[in-house]
Amino acid sequence: MAYTILRGGRVLDIASGTADLADILIEDDTIREIGAPGCAAPAEAVEIAATRRLLHPGLVNAHTHGHGNLAKGMGDRWTLELLLTAAPWITGNRTGEDGYLSTQLGAVEMVLKGCTACYDLSFEWPLPSTDGLALTGKAYADVGMRAVVAPMVADRSFYEAIPGLYDALPQPLKERVAEFRLPPGEATLAAIRAALRDWSFDRDRVRPAVAPTIPHHCSDAFILGCADLAREFDIGLHSHVAESKVQGVTGIRLYGQTQTAHLDGLGVLGPHFTVAHGVWLDEDDMARLGDHGASVAHNPGSNMRLGSGLADTRAMLERRVNLGIGTDGANCADNQNMYEAMRLASFVSKVQGPDWRRWLSTREAALAATEGSARALGFGDRIGKLAPGYKADIVMLDLDHPNWLPFNDPVNQLVHTEDGTAVASVMIGGRLVVDNRRVLTLDLERLRDRVEAARERLAAANADNRRLYEALEPVVGSYCPGLAGSPYHVHRYGARLE
Ligand SMILES: [Zn+2]
Repeated sequence: MAYTILRGGRVLDIASGTADLADILIEDDTIREIGAPGCAAPAEAVEIAATRRLLHPGLVNAHTHGHGNLAKGMGDRWTLELLLTAAPWITGNRTGEDGYLSTQLGAVEMVLKGCTACYDLSFEWPLPSTDGLALTGKAYADVGMRAVVAPMVADRSFYEAIPGLYDALPQPLKERVAEFRLPPGEATLAAIRAALRDWSFDRDRVRPAVAPTIPHHCSDAFILGCADLAREFDIGLHSHVAESKVQGVTGIRLYGQTQTAHLDGLGVLGPHFTVAHGVWLDEDDMARLGDHGASVAHNPGSNMRLGSGLADTRAMLERRVNLGIGTDGANCADNQNMYEAMRLASFVSKVQGPDWRRWLSTREAALAATEGSARALGFGDRIGKLAPGYKADIVMLDLDHPNWLPFNDPVNQLVHTEDGTAVASVMIGGRLVVDNRRVLTLDLERLRDRVEAARERLAAANADNRRLYEALEPVVGSYCPGLAGSPYHVHRYGARLE
């Protein structure tokens, strides 16, 4: 038994909006007691001074991509479809070591910015591997961060998945994109099964899940195969659903109904299911998700960055959808700042109409970024809250920082003022991972050198893929917005093509 006691801090309770002075007693990795200042502790307890600190539950990033961090800032005006077109350029020719570095870079950014757990949809070409997933898991374990690692998989390429897109390409480009055909679904499912069987991490720290990436990029048999794995190994399922309008239109064309109605028909929705984005969900979709106890990972920064739109989080909450908040990958966000994601979640709800009663409150945004995201990750009763029995995932904000002067309201300031610059220390599972704004678990200079070396090598290796992107951009960039321009009524009336 190892005991730690945090003394003299203000302990935030988001639900009640209070931040009273209290001491937190931690036994091993778990909060045992939150007591009055000066409360008794075992004599051997290590004491940590938390005077002038606001202690809040670690933020939980409900949707990111570890492989995206080496690609931050590589593009500007990209829709989701152009981002997918750019994938061979920005994530091509990666080794397992690159996957490790990219993921670790994101983990470091997240912990420095007050995030202690994430749901990572990680990508390997042409299919996931036991070694690759183990390296991704190790990247989080080495930083000391909690994570759910889900191989992001499909059995149709982007060019096969969007109706008419392949045919719209000139012949030489058709031949080039044929290289991006994916292995048969059975091979990918077998690879995931092998990785799940060999999973060596403590599932309390780093656990697996599976992510059929976008419904229409997957055959029904493949989606069902992923759902079978999720059931067999008792893990989560995560998919980009109704992210862009192109996806919404494609779903209707392909299935004669929305992507969500189709997934419901396949029987794959449930409390373990997370929809990423959900910008183009209609009310029936939301009701289906809510009735199944499913989650939406709301990524307001990415949704604006890619022009996907503004998700209606109030309507989701009204239909009992569990709402989490994410940053999305650094290749489309382009940072991993959960304070910013919370703030944008609040603001995005507020620009959608003048009826302020439908706007998200800061309390709702903060609960979504903690308890809501925790439930989406499958850690619902163990993280996302500072309370006895919960893991000691605790962020200590400096109340002497300008962000907190004056100290008016802890929840409003957490969501609308804090930007990560007041993060002083971060504890994950009772272990200090960041102290006095320094990451304790790895050598940042060494990480920098390895990341820059990888960047240089990948830029050279992907020069041809970059030229291919530049050739594809005008075609994809005019075909897809054309598809999105189809008459398509989605908002609040039920989705349908006319
Ligand atoms: Zn994503």
